[in-house]
Parts: sequence; C-alpha cells; structure tokens
Amino acid sequence: MSLDNKILSVRKEGLYCEAGDFYIDPRGHTKRAVITHAHSDHARVGHRNYLCSDPCKSLLQTRIGSKNNIESIPFGEKKAIGNALVSFHPAGHILGSAQIRIEVNGRIWVVSGDYKPQKDRTCESFELVPCHGFISECTFGLPVYQWQPEEKIHQKINHWWDKNKKDDHGSMLFAYSLGKAQRVLGGLDSNIGPIYAHSAVHSFLDHYRNAGVHLPEVKKVNGEKNFSGAIVIAPPAVEDSSWTRKFRNVKIGFASGWMAIRGQRRRKNFDRGFVLSDHADWKGLVDVISGTGAEIVKLTHGNGDALSRFLTEEGINTSVLNQSVFEREELE
Ligand SMILES: [Zn+2]
Ligand SMILES: [Zn+2]
Repeated sequence: MSLDNKILSVRKEGLYCEAGDFYIDPRGHTKRAVITHAHSDHARVGHRNYLCSDPCKSLLQTRIGSKNNIESIPFGEKKAIGNALVSFHPAGHILGSAQIRIEVNGRIWVVSGDYKPQKDRTCESFELVPCHGFISECTFGLPVYQWQPEEKIHQKINHWWDKNKKDDHGSMLFAYSLGKAQRVLGGLDSNIGPIYAHSAVHSFLDHYRNAGVHLPEVKKVNGEKNFSGAIVIAPPAVEDSSWTRKFRNVKIGFASGWMAIRGQRRRKNFDRGFVLSDHADWKGLVDVISGTGAEIVKLTHGNGDALSRFLTEEGINTSVLNQSVFEREELE
C-alpha cells in the first residue's frame, strides 16, 4: 500500500486515515472521529471519541450532546495519533470550522472540509496550508458561481428590509441556522427596526458572542403577532411549516449561494434571493487549490467534473471522489 493510501482512503464511513486509525467527519460507528465543523452533515452522533478544534467544541457539544467524549486542541497545534501528526487550520466556513492537516513521514495531506477564502466577520479567516495532497469540497464548482463582497450583500439585505418596512411589511429571511444566520445577523442595521430569530438560530448566538463576534440585539420569536417593520431570521427547514404560515404580511427572502441559480427563487416562491454563501466560489476554489501547491487533488461535495477538467489542464492530478459517500450540500 502506498504512503498516500495510508494517509487517506475512502471507506463506507467516509475518509479514513490508516496511519492514525481515525475517520474524518464519518457516518456510522467508529472508534475515533476527527471533525471539521459542527454542521450536521459533518458532525454526527454514534462515535466513541471525537477530536475537533477548540472553537468548534461548544458548537459540537450543542450539536451531538455534551455527554459525548469530545477532545479539542487549538488551531495550529500538532497532535500525534498513531503514526500521524494531526492539526486543525481555519477553514473560514463557520465559527470553529477547520481544515485538517495530516502528516505522515513528511508527506502532508489536507482535508478542506467546507471552506471559503472570502471575508466573513463572524468566523476565523481561512488559512492556506501547503500540502502534497488536498481533498477539496466543490459545492459551487462551476464558473457561474462568483460571489460579491459580503458588505454588498449586507447592504442589499438592509435595503430590502427598510423598503419592506416603509411598505408596512415585515421581513422574513431564511438562512441556515448555524453560520449563515449569524453572518446575516452580524450585517443587519439595528437602526431599521427590531430583529428576531427562530429558536434554532437563537440557540447558537451565545457561542458566537462568547467567541468575540459582534452581533446586534436579537429577540427570540415568542408568540408575537405584529412583525411590521421587523426582520425575522429563520432556518430554511421551517420554510414550509405552520410556524412560518402564522406570520402575516411579511415579505420572504432567502440567503444562500443557491440563489445564484435563476429559477431557484421562483420555484420556491421567495420574494427576494440574496447570493450569500459560506462556500468558496469558482475562483476561490481554483485560487486555494493551486495555492496549496498540491500535486494530487481529490474533489468531494458536489459535481466536480468541470473543476476536475480545469485543474487537470493546469497539470494537477485531479479526480472526483465517490459521490455516494459524500452528500451534496442541500441548503448549505
Ligand atoms: Zn458546512
Ligand atoms: Zn458540508
């Protein structure tokens, strides 16, 4: 077996490091799970031991329960596991999100997890980690995906909210409950009106505040009737539910990278879509992947065909990992 295969291979539970006998973001039941970040498609219950970055720990406890055996280490610190040296490096995706660097006999692989090099005031900045092999997500791996700076999107959201207020409407904005919602909240102008959040969003706010992230005052939705002039941030999971239907006279918006696709908004009956993603866009993917200097690249989380072709033409040995093991990001 080659050294690269001892560092990382694909099993039915997910990515496996034989040199250290651990899995990354696995499903099923394993002895040791090394976790990139606290999103539910990466952090699952059922493992005997967990390892994550320090700022991820409290989010992971909230996600999978504090009775689990969760160990954490600071970003950048190397920990020996079997014959592997493991360290976490900021991925810029959500608070505490990490890329995982694995070094065995001087050979270095990095598993990106979900990442974005774009600026985000609510999480640690992405760190470029030089490596021989890079496993990259490619959720938005097509050239049509090009993000605008986040300030621009925050401005558009505030403008939409203000206009709705002037028209005597409330504003209901859907955003993924962990990460995206806090990023949206961090950009809201509280001079416009009161800010509310669904409990699923609200439950993560203290984690962000404790990490030093500035957020405006946010009230938990609690039986109020009149939201005229207010904005409510809620998870997409409740979009088609009785919880949402009880709000009258509100305009509906959605903040997601998927809003870049024409038709998504109409299909779902949103009044307004905001293209705000916590994943890298096409240029972000290409810049990061070439920036690592990796000679071998494997793509996960998305249709990697276009990116794989592009990188191969650039002379990088690129392939797409078996998609059945890695789910697509549904709502980011
Ligand atoms: Zn994620
Ligand atoms: Zn993901």
